[in-house]
Amino acid sequence: MKILITGGAGFIGSAVVRQAVEAGHEVVNLDALTYAANLESLSSVAESPLYAFEQADIRDRPAFDRIFAAHRPDAVMHLAAESHVDRSIDGPALFIETNVTGTFNLLEAARTHWQATGKPDGFRFHHISTDEVYGSLGPTGKFTENTPYDPRSPYSASKAASDHLVRAWGETYGLPVLVTNCSNNYGPFHFPEKLIPVVILRALAGEPIPVYGDGSNVRDWLFVEDHADALLTVLQRGEVGRTYNIGGENEAANIDLVRMICAELDTLRPEGAPHDRLITFVTDRPGHDQRYAIDPTRIRKELGWRPSVTVEEGIARTVRWYLDNEAWWRPLLDREGVGRRLGTKA
Ligand code: NAD
Repeated sequence: MKILITGGAGFIGSAVVRQAVEAGHEVVNLDALTYAANLESLSSVAESPLYAFEQADIRDRPAFDRIFAAHRPDAVMHLAAESHVDRSIDGPALFIETNVTGTFNLLEAARTHWQATGKPDGFRFHHISTDEVYGSLGPTGKFTENTPYDPRSPYSASKAASDHLVRAWGETYGLPVLVTNCSNNYGPFHFPEKLIPVVILRALAGEPIPVYGDGSNVRDWLFVEDHADALLTVLQRGEVGRTYNIGGENEAANIDLVRMICAELDTLRPEGAPHDRLITFVTDRPGHDQRYAIDPTRIRKELGWRPSVTVEEGIARTVRWYLDNEAWWRPLLDREGVGRRLGTKA
């Protein structure tokens, strides 16, 4: 397959690009290279004849038409987005422009290409979304594909809007769409503004480790390489028009996850132990969703897919990766907004 992957220089997108190339697919990575991007994450595939890069902004429709015409992809995997909830609280406009209008632009360009090439049966438009569109759970229950949408942050509202656009293009124009909604990802190459890399890097530096509120918020942690594997499974075997929830089957409260990371660092960097002495509770995020959990029944039963990495194993691998890859993360600490508390303007 020749796959056009948007956002391929980001955290999840780069994992998908690496796996797709390793599996023998041709990949065109379309990315604007925002603050969240890092082409160093793709150094293992950059020289491959199967890999091509196009710097383009999904807010810029004319650029797409050229890229579709030049590469004639068999499928689109759409991951490009503004992805940080705290930044969406401070500056929602960019989230609407990129996540909503950008997705609209991409759908229109894909539709034009699909129609111009004779509506090939195998064409797919795979939209990658989040479980945050379903809102916040209490102590029990899980999100299924039929859970009503109830987004509560500018980020999740913009992703919900883009999901609706994708389904509408499927229904109205017959574009062969797939939607996946996944839980919180973590793993190597994660930008150092998200919880897990923040904890690792603050602990390594001997600085306070910020935990929002009382740390009781629960997330269903999905190792990024498992997610990339699930996405390629859905792309190749998913039923057109269907939505699949992808979860890690690894629920953990933020505070427990932070303590797990600290314990791992106590073993690997005993000179800084105990790292959990650095935990500092800070003012909560406005509208902070309490709990997310995915019911993975559909993807498991219909596509036979399950995550392979437990949270304990995934955290150990991730901590070791950050210890071994300072050259990857150190320069990112100078990027705009990194290291500052964001998302308190509400
Ligand atoms: P990320 O922020 O690490 O990467 C986003 C990438 O998109 C970057 O490379 C950036 O340069 C690119 N991009 C942003 N705006 C663009 C634009 N206007 N034009 C072209 N490229 C642009 O994000 P991520 O964590 O890898 O998430 C990827 C996708 O998965 C997003 O759609 C996100 O909503 C979704 N998702 C993420 C998670 C998670 O836990 N990280 C969970 C569920 C769903």
